Amino acid sequence: MATTTLDLLRKYSVPGPRYTSYPTAPYFHSGFGEADWIDALAQPAPDRGLSLYTHIPFCDSLCYYCGCNMVATRDYGKTRPYLAALEREMATAAARVDPARAAHQLHWGGGTPTYLSPDDIRALMAMTRRHFRLADHAEISCEVDPRELSRAHLEALRESGFNRVSFGVQDMDPAVQQAVNRIQSADLIRQVLDWSRELGFESINLDLIVGLPKQTPESFRHTLDQVAAWAPDRVAVFAYAHVPWMKKHQRLIREADLPDLSAKLALQEAVESRLSEAGYVNIGLDHFARPEDELVRAQRNKTLWRNFQGYTTHKDSDILAFGASSISQTADAYMQNEKTLKRYQDRIGDTGLAVERGVRLTRDDQIRRDAITRVMCDLALDFSAFEAAWSVDFARYFESALAGLRPLADDGLVEIGTGSLKVTETGRRFLRNIGMCFDAYLKDAAGEQPRYSKTA
Ligand code: SF4
Repeated sequence: MATTTLDLLRKYSVPGPRYTSYPTAPYFHSGFGEADWIDALAQPAPDRGLSLYTHIPFCDSLCYYCGCNMVATRDYGKTRPYLAALEREMATAAARVDPARAAHQLHWGGGTPTYLSPDDIRALMAMTRRHFRLADHAEISCEVDPRELSRAHLEALRESGFNRVSFGVQDMDPAVQQAVNRIQSADLIRQVLDWSRELGFESINLDLIVGLPKQTPESFRHTLDQVAAWAPDRVAVFAYAHVPWMKKHQRLIREADLPDLSAKLALQEAVESRLSEAGYVNIGLDHFARPEDELVRAQRNKTLWRNFQGYTTHKDSDILAFGASSISQTADAYMQNEKTLKRYQDRIGDTGLAVERGVRLTRDDQIRRDAITRVMCDLALDFSAFEAAWSVDFARYFESALAGLRPLADDGLVEIGTGSLKVTETGRRFLRNIGMCFDAYLKDAAGEQPRYSKTA
């Protein structure tokens, strides 16, 4: 009997990373401390640009599916010491980084960055510009929650130089919105999109989530129709990661309400067919963009990259991340800040840095990261180009990875030739599983508590 995609999903649905970093965050460790991070910051890297990230953890209310590091509060006073800590952290990092290096990308995420008042949005951006030089035409983007948003917030973003916005839409069905405690009407979304277009933001992204409670392929088709009519520049469709052992509030979601594997497959198929019909190109794991979008061009030119913010065209940039829980990245190190507000602010008060943990990459980590990234971004891997870049014999270096990929090739997910590896159409759904074959840490972790959400 022929194997169906559903059979394959059943077979390959295992806990696995999304590979926004390698090594992945569970392998960051507290042995990496402040001195290591200061050393990483001071490394000369004249050819690497900067990408700045600022985390604003505050939200007005809790969405039950939330996987972010956030604090739901109505006490705006909490932002005061936090903004002061951000200023000190930026000053500390800027003093150690070559001032000739410009930032080509800046992103605010959360939490809800637009929890900040319009005046504080302006103040935070002015603060950032005091410490870092933003390149002309830098990509400056902000995540925006349409609820509690006023036109004045968007005006403050625009005046501060933001040229991209990303709105959390998730699902427009009232039953789903009720089940996840996130109510937002179509009129509200239409309004914030109109404002954004009037104010001249160059790129508008909408985020959707599949796998939410009460979601059905039929109801989600209405959401997709609505999204197609709103015509954003990009659409990101994330798979809901149900990890209640890590995110306790996800217990507020009834597991019986979650779509099963076959419904999740139908949801994914609905996303792919409706968005492709609306003219979007599917980029790897979770992003869709117009054919003329720079992400699509980068994928074609094999210069697409993946980091904590998802797919990006800024491959050779160091990420300097500020705020609680944020993750910074240089060519050979990752560093994560303290996650709780109190510890973050206390540590910044002491030394100007709040390093909780991190990792210094070995050469093997860098080689494997490149292999995983090429698979996730290019959906292919050219062995001789890889050998030229890393001076390794691909077949020998990845002997065990290639052996691990053999069953996936037998199942039609990848084609392995003598000089290259290619992800098939069916294999696109299994990118995480394919990446896992190159991951040296997973073998050592076999039998431990699950650290990741399921791949399907
Ligand atoms: S608004 Fe975003 S960060 Fe805040 S609770 Fe909802 S999903 Fe989480």
